[in-house]
Amino acid sequence: MKMEYNGCRWLDSAIHFERKFVSDCCKRPSIGSGMPKLIPDFNGGPIDWEKLFKIKHDRIKQQKEAIINECKGCEFLSDYEYKMEKKISDFQFSQCKLCNSRCVYCAPKGTFDPGYNVYPIIKDLIEKGYYKPGGEAIFQGGEPTLMTNFEELVDLLASNGSRLRILTSAIKFSPKIEEYIAKDNCLVVISIDSGCKQTYKKVKLVDKFDVVCNNIEKYARAVKDPYNLMIKYIIVPGINDNIHEIDLFFKLMKKLNVKCVAIDIEDNYARVYNYKNVSPHIYLLYDYFIYLAKKNNMPDVTHYAYIQYLADLRTSKPSKLIKYKFLYNLYAKLLNNKKKNIKYT
Ligand code: SF4
Repeated sequence: MKMEYNGCRWLDSAIHFERKFVSDCCKRPSIGSGMPKLIPDFNGGPIDWEKLFKIKHDRIKQQKEAIINECKGCEFLSDYEYKMEKKISDFQFSQCKLCNSRCVYCAPKGTFDPGYNVYPIIKDLIEKGYYKPGGEAIFQGGEPTLMTNFEELVDLLASNGSRLRILTSAIKFSPKIEEYIAKDNCLVVISIDSGCKQTYKKVKLVDKFDVVCNNIEKYARAVKDPYNLMIKYIIVPGINDNIHEIDLFFKLMKKLNVKCVAIDIEDNYARVYNYKNVSPHIYLLYDYFIYLAKKNNMPDVTHYAYIQYLADLRTSKPSKLIKYKFLYNLYAKLLNNKKKNIKYT
């Protein structure tokens, strides 16, 4: 019988700030509803930490009996052993929806709400002794560099012992990101989703390709470990789901001196359409991307969970034959022909 894991470090020691609530995590599992709520209605202000830990610990006790609805089907469930300390070590900040980009796949569209100031909340948590160093602080959004007190919050968490992960559009250059990637304490993730100005504009709906390339180049010069500058390609059907664009993307990465890339679909966007808006060529594009990454000496491509989820759904195994020229040519032909619903055999 398949072992059912019930461990999750997010339930144990993490906090996620959303625009209108606080939860244990920001995950949306394939079956459960995800994001177990800690404070269902929140718009900033002081948090009663004792009350919050009581909710966390009661939830863990429940989870040990049977997987709670929110966590059903989550890929983060593991054999993790709960510690049930009154400590937070991992943070996710999604409360600020301000953004300088207008990506077609972004949800919720057009809110661009600045949200609440999270800095005094984290300061209070640290001062009251509920903080544990050694975890990760993930800044997402919206655009994190536009968050109130972004620099102060980054300094506060880094100086106390958190590692940083910042997901930015790179439209605004951040000397703070530059500082921490140079100190080897930050992973910066930038979705450029294209290899040229025209496609960038179609995905992002802003004309900032040159600015972003310039900023990526500056980060590439500053970064101590090149794997801490990750450039992402989110596949958007009908816009960048073709091999020509992926070719251009890898040429651009070489020019900008980037060594680390990621491929993804945008899960919120895909979910809204029940994954029906995912490119019919997704597996071929995925394999082609991996093929080019290897060819360009970038062996460790990150594919985010949802690509993996889709990859798991396909009946056959990912092709190892892509390395052979004849199959590569066949893929190239299929992709160029824009043939729909190709069966992966
Ligand atoms: S199991 Fe998944 S949904 Fe549940 S708290 Fe952990 S990460 Fe979140």
